[in-house]
Amino acid sequence: MANYTDAVCKLCRREGQKLFLKGERCLSPKCAIERRPYPPGEHGKKATFRRKVSDYGMQLREKQKARRIYGVMEKQFRRYFREASRRKGLTGATLLTILESRLDNVVYRLGFADSRSQARQLVRHGHFEVNGRKTDIPSYLVSVGDVISVRANSQNNAYFKERAQIIQNGAKVPAWLSLNPMTLSGSVVGEPSREDIEIPLNEQLIVEYYSR
Ligand code: SF4
Repeated sequence: MANYTDAVCKLCRREGQKLFLKGERCLSPKCAIERRPYPPGEHGKKATFRRKVSDYGMQLREKQKARRIYGVMEKQFRRYFREASRRKGLTGATLLTILESRLDNVVYRLGFADSRSQARQLVRHGHFEVNGRKTDIPSYLVSVGDVISVRANSQNNAYFKERAQIIQNGAKVPAWLSLNPMTLSGSVVGEPSREDIEIPLNEQLIVEYYSR
């Protein structure tokens, strides 16, 4: 997350569920929420995830959860919400579609990174191009028809050589993306629908949060 410098596992423990922010580690017994399933902080152990939460509290938590999963700061998240409200269709689902369309998320979804934060770093370091043009802005929103590729120079570095092997051994990508493991590129073949987004989020609560 842009300015968040503390341990990211605390974010999962605060939300009381896995947000999958650290790739492989999230699936291992080392996951902090497996070892310390209570909120962070001095009094965390005494707190319980089942305590009574107000409607506002639930809306706030859901909004924070979405922000943390996608690594978006409040100001930008609010901007995405405004954009989603302007578009046709259900605002909550549209908000998730916008978040899914971020370049860092697409890089992660194509299997070029283990987590969105790693994807964000790879994009910032200039390893990707969109439609043949170097693009190092993680928040760049892809559109149907866009082709996202690992840049030719980057394909020779050790990280991407290893990635290529992992991807070629079978990578699962969502239906709205298509992956070419041989060229380390992928294309956007449709708009992400709500069903394609497996993240456990109640987007309606986010809409209610911003509609207060
Ligand atoms: Fe969350 Fe992953 Fe850390 Fe587990 S390892 S607490 S899922 S970021």
